[in-house]
Amino acid sequence: MPQDSYLVGLIGAGIGPSLTPALHEREADRQGLRCLYRLLDIDALGLRPENVGELLRAARDVGFDGLNVTHPCKQLVIEHLDALSPQAEALGAVNTVVIADGRATGHNTDVTGFAASFARGLPDVRTDHVVQVGAGGAGAAVAHAVLTLGAGRVTLVDAAPERAAALADSLDRHFGAGRAAAAAPDALADLLADADGIVHATPTGMAAHPGLPFPADLLHPGLWVAEVVYRPLETELVRTARALGCAVLDGGGMAVFQAVDAFRLFTGREPDAGRMLDHFARLAQPAGTLKSSGAAAGTA
Ligand code: NAD
Repeated sequence: MPQDSYLVGLIGAGIGPSLTPALHEREADRQGLRCLYRLLDIDALGLRPENVGELLRAARDVGFDGLNVTHPCKQLVIEHLDALSPQAEALGAVNTVVIADGRATGHNTDVTGFAASFARGLPDVRTDHVVQVGAGGAGAAVAHAVLTLGAGRVTLVDAAPERAAALADSLDRHFGAGRAAAAAPDALADLLADADGIVHATPTGMAAHPGLPFPADLLHPGLWVAEVVYRPLETELVRTARALGCAVLDGGGMAVFQAVDAFRLFTGREPDAGRMLDHFARLAQPAGTLKSSGAAAGTA
């Protein structure tokens, strides 16, 4: 008989506000499945990131069907898995673990989630040359997604230049020479002057890191702008770019599609992405301000 109940969870630090449990549980409800999605917060449990292996073992032993994994455990979990999807292997980071038949297999739905959001929200934009600001964990996933979607080349800029250089090297090895390069932050003005679009993948714009990641006058209406920050959905970058007339993708679509793809992996059933986008839009809007948001529409 097909399985009709699921126990899944999220391992990470400071994950209390995550909307992912609600997205999974509601979609399961709508499909007539029972899903319990539990938060396994290493801070709340008094654990260190290096304890992720023990937590995974415990979750396996008590019958979890799968786990999402987030900061700071996406790399650390890898040595405790039995197998990796090609994407997770290429990226060296796992955000979804499927536990089945006694085996734990790592996937990366940040990559597929950003790709799905981008394809939906910015379907017709040129991607001959993409500039990406931020080469950390999210940056690695979205750069993989952008190149997988067929971008000609990506130039990476990070306040820590060694991070941009390391990511560019690894992308070049994976996608072929000339597809990725690193540049210094002071080259951004020249880069953006004739790039097709910009992907923003630093924490700037979150409530704790307000503001813009670079001066507003580097933006121009000829650029499309893809944001990864989704708390809030309407970051200062999204607001500024939209006011200029840029095509804009907010970070909500990536957050939803990583859950869409994880739901499919956990349950083997096809989630209703439109329904999950709509649910997310409701969850993410401040009370009383619900409107047709970027998450619901796939664009901002
Ligand atoms: P991280 O700390 O791993 O990487 C951030 C990088 O940005 C660092 O390398 C840092 O040097 C660089 N940086 C910071 N400010 C900069 C600036 N002004 N200019 C250039 N570089 C700068 O963080 P992360 O895990 O990659 O997360 C980044 C953001 O992505 C967070 O806000 C996170 O919430 C968001 N995120 C969103 C999704 C989603 O589903 N939409 C998924 C994952 C992460």
